Amino acid sequence: MASPSTVSNKNMLSGKHGKSLMYIRNFINGSHCPPLSGNYIDNVDPSTGNVYSCIPDSEETDVQQAVESARTAFPAWSVMQKQKRSAILIRISELIRDRTEELALAETVDNGKPLWLSRSVDIPRAVSNFHFYATAALHDWTETHNMEGTALNYTLRNPVGVAGCISPWNLPLYLFSWKVAPALASGCTVVAKPSEVTPMTAYLLSEICMDAGLPPGVLNIVHGYGHKAGMAIVSHPEIAAVSFTGGTRTGEIISRTAGPMFKKLSLELGGKNPTIVFADADFDKAVHTSVRAAFSNQGEICLCGSRIFVEESIYKKFKTAFVKESARLKVGDPLLEESNIGAIVSDSHMIKILSYIDLAKQEGGEILCGGNRVQPKGRCEGGFFIEPTVIENLDAYCRTNQEEIFGPVVSIIPFRSQEEVITFANSTQYGLAASVWTSNLKTAHTVAAALQSGIVWINCWLLRDLRTPFGGMKNSGVGREGGFEALRFFTEEKNVCIRLK
Ligand code: NAD
Repeated sequence: MASPSTVSNKNMLSGKHGKSLMYIRNFINGSHCPPLSGNYIDNVDPSTGNVYSCIPDSEETDVQQAVESARTAFPAWSVMQKQKRSAILIRISELIRDRTEELALAETVDNGKPLWLSRSVDIPRAVSNFHFYATAALHDWTETHNMEGTALNYTLRNPVGVAGCISPWNLPLYLFSWKVAPALASGCTVVAKPSEVTPMTAYLLSEICMDAGLPPGVLNIVHGYGHKAGMAIVSHPEIAAVSFTGGTRTGEIISRTAGPMFKKLSLELGGKNPTIVFADADFDKAVHTSVRAAFSNQGEICLCGSRIFVEESIYKKFKTAFVKESARLKVGDPLLEESNIGAIVSDSHMIKILSYIDLAKQEGGEILCGGNRVQPKGRCEGGFFIEPTVIENLDAYCRTNQEEIFGPVVSIIPFRSQEEVITFANSTQYGLAASVWTSNLKTAHTVAAALQSGIVWINCWLLRDLRTPFGGMKNSGVGREGGFEALRFFTEEKNVCIRLK
């Protein structure tokens, strides 16, 4: 834990590391403030292993201040004309776009993902999230139900009040804005917490909100650990709805706290997604996209396909092509354009992934490529890198194929029939996303219908339309985000019934 001793320019403080570091601050009631305890958490650049900034180690008292500020801001924000609210959110979206380069670099330094990826996916998606919900709110409607001249029912949808939004480290600003934007657009005020592992772009977003003229208290951002600041949000009696994205285990803890308090809950949790390749698939596209689905963002996307089931008759050919393309991926400095795979987000996560590679070997797996930590020469020597790893010879039901690894590690498995692959695919506790590769329409529809999965991509992966329902079945989550579903999550419905005679 670092404690700042001297204050210099803006956020640059000297701490225990003996050098000037940036100290991120909370964003409460429209201004930046230090944590009340004065305690900070080290923030590490995973590509070097060095501490490069510090973030507030916020506690219940900080969350209390944030909730009070959100409560005070709620009456005016919730009745503000939709067009006015929308204009502010569009302004936020434009300012994110204007600062793309700065935000992309911040995301890469914080998370370890390649800079080209932050620039082409993460930040543009945050721009779209704000823009989409700023405009979607203008087109929302409510229903009427006419009881044949006896009565008329209509539905009112009012913002729930103060919403809590908690997001993970893998797509930091992308997922933070995916929650905050619909909450604000629906008229809620918000207390939000980004992951303590990747706080920087949420901090920069607070600057953008100030510049965009978001009224004080409408969005409050509290930084810190999940079990402290996060839990204080989840358990606060004035927070009416909690939108959470993260691990299944954390989702369980949150449900146990928020459930008995009858809060609205949206949970987007873990996955262990199948990629299913039938013999009649477009071979080259299937190989290329399955490699992308396996290793994009270091395999740290909840939607990554980590169990690759291939029809027996093309198994050998597919395996050879898949391994060849995977082994060609360049692991290294995320700031370099040529790096396909950047750093794993943290030392502890890297150790966890490596332990799963060991487990796979113990379970009889054969490593077809990768399997090791990488220590690139120069600037990134102390960083957390792992080779793209492909494993075969594992039973579909072993731990490696059942548990979420969330890294650049995939398993490739042959299947004999449609029935068998559906059973394999549905065999985990998860049900988030699946990809199916086939040129047979009947196979595509039959398998899509049978998969226990919130999202099924046919002959593609990560093709996203923000209007569609997004979320998982089974232990991958509760509820759906995206489109009007998210706007409605942040509102409370009321049926008004008028007797006509
Ligand atoms: P995590 O569950 O450890 O943390 C997520 C967030 O919750 C962080 O902000 C953390 O500080 C906070 N948190 C932790 N404990 C808490 C508690 N007791 N109370 C309140 N908040 C708490 O997850 P992570 O390691 O940051 O992210 C990786 C996980 O997220 C993976 O399992 C991945 O599949 C999942 N994920 C799911 C989706 C989806 O849409 N389904 C998207 C991205 C990531």
